[in-house]
Amino acid sequence: MDSYHSDVLRLQAVHERDANADNSFVYGVLTTGVVCYPSCASRAAKPENMRYFNSVDEALCAGFRYCKRCRTDLQPLSIRHRDLVVQACRIVGSEGEVIRVGTLAQRLGVSRFHLQKLFKEYVGVSPKTYMQAVRARRLCYSLESHSTITEAILEAGYDNVGNFYADVQKRLGMNASVRRAGSVDVDVRYGFADSPFGLIVVAQTDVGVCAVLFGETRELLVEELSSRFPKAQLLFDEAHLSVHLQAVVEKLHVPDKYIDVPLDIRGTAFQERVWQALCEIPCGHTASYAQVAKAIDQPKAARAVAKACSSNAIAVLIPCHRVVKGNGELSGYRWGVERKRALLDSEQ
Ligand SMILES: [Zn+2]
Repeated sequence: MDSYHSDVLRLQAVHERDANADNSFVYGVLTTGVVCYPSCASRAAKPENMRYFNSVDEALCAGFRYCKRCRTDLQPLSIRHRDLVVQACRIVGSEGEVIRVGTLAQRLGVSRFHLQKLFKEYVGVSPKTYMQAVRARRLCYSLESHSTITEAILEAGYDNVGNFYADVQKRLGMNASVRRAGSVDVDVRYGFADSPFGLIVVAQTDVGVCAVLFGETRELLVEELSSRFPKAQLLFDEAHLSVHLQAVVEKLHVPDKYIDVPLDIRGTAFQERVWQALCEIPCGHTASYAQVAKAIDQPKAARAVAKACSSNAIAVLIPCHRVVKGNGELSGYRWGVERKRALLDSEQ
């Protein structure tokens, strides 16, 4: 919905120099003959001398010239800023070694201070924190997957990644930056349990639970673990697992029970955002793929959300079973629709 659909609202946006409006309309000033973005810092024209247009091109056709101040010959400033941050992320992603913030700023032709400010605004963390995270992830995941945060930002259509890192760390106990370089060859300890929904395997690293999987036999579950964690050393160790194993089983018996189990989540930034959003669907409720896509500010990514749900390795603790079709029908479930139905029924 366009929030600037009437001239009154448009005039107000111009008076407030509302940068959010820059993507929605522009205005031409009859007395000067220039076309400006709503956020232009030039002196306000009289309303009767202003003409509104949906795009700069339209205004040009009507005979207006570019404004030298707000640079209507370029994209709106907010878009230019966002593109600059994406470009910065690309450079960070492609550098083998961590590049210095000053060097990065220089390469982009902006001041270090400006880059820092933009990073905070668009990514939610400082460039330095971002670089450390990229590096930590590269060390952790380079052998598993080439996905980087940058790719995820690009794949996600350049949108604001928000305070993604801080939130995930807080909510899921993940801490990418503290993972040591050696964690590529992590030990993954696992154990089995029977649950009301069938046999499960629970696996964990030093960081937390990295998998909860349903399966028909122990052999098949171990096979799945080794395909999901090809670099890990798998250790059958139920004694070590007992606390978390028991917590997971309890949760399967009493779905709304709060259990304090740290998770070690491993996915692309996009997947992790989806999984984080799933954790916010309360027990006893469901959400559609489109709703989850909207919740992570990617309204067009419903299909990608569905894919991220199906690649979730931590069943139940990351409740991908609570995502259903838009019409409320159950869609597929990695561990069978019948199991999904049973899990949802148990939450009622
Ligand atoms: Zn202007």
